[in-house]
Amino acid sequence: MVGCQYGSINAWYLEQPVVLFNLPGAMRLLVVEDEPDLLAGLARALRKQGYSVDTAADGEEGLYKAQSADYDAIVLDVMLPRLDGWEVLARLRAVKVTPILMLTARDRSSDRVRGLDTGADDYLVKPFDTPELFARLRALIRRSARQPCAALEIGEVHIDTVARLVTHAGQPVTLTAREYALLEYLALHRGEVATRAVLYEHLCDENETTLSNILEVHIFNLRKKLGQDIISTRRGCGYCIE
Ligand code: CA
Repeated sequence: MVGCQYGSINAWYLEQPVVLFNLPGAMRLLVVEDEPDLLAGLARALRKQGYSVDTAADGEEGLYKAQSADYDAIVLDVMLPRLDGWEVLARLRAVKVTPILMLTARDRSSDRVRGLDTGADDYLVKPFDTPELFARLRALIRRSARQPCAALEIGEVHIDTVARLVTHAGQPVTLTAREYALLEYLALHRGEVATRAVLYEHLCDENETTLSNILEVHIFNLRKKLGQDIISTRRGCGYCIE
């Protein structure tokens, strides 16, 4: 298997079993990439990290989805049919500040400058290692939440967003991928009330049909594992970590 690649994604990495503490992740991503193998490989690798992932195979579809949904970050290839990545970036930036990581095969500083000038938040040159992509996405999402630190503290609850480990009073707590994603989202947006609609949008991808009480079940479980006070309910509004 070593040496075999899905596009520029290392196949060996994708075939590894998911380790439980590595599984939880956060939030909803859009990947815009026209090479089918790379798109499928990226989506699969990111889902294994616990992200909800939507995909688009050309610039027009990517722009439409990016404008229609509220993504936590977008991975955007530069060379795309219909609309190239620059055009998608420029049109999206006119209306949205979603964090964007550009992918390009061209390692030219003029391209990097153009991308950053046009409003890209980060840049990765193909071929790239998936762990580096994961790390850059985590950093982008933290920055957009104005939370530069990888560790979050809520009372006795400690969240390590790099290792995706949660402890309560110093003891490790096992969370499901969705429980972790929900906790991390609320912790990154501490003090803000997140409505049910917003939480569903960030936790579920376009192919999922959500059960109406699934959010309440996750909240119930998080309170059971981390203490009743960890998440406040704002009646008729949503949920919040104070
Ligand atoms: Ca391409």
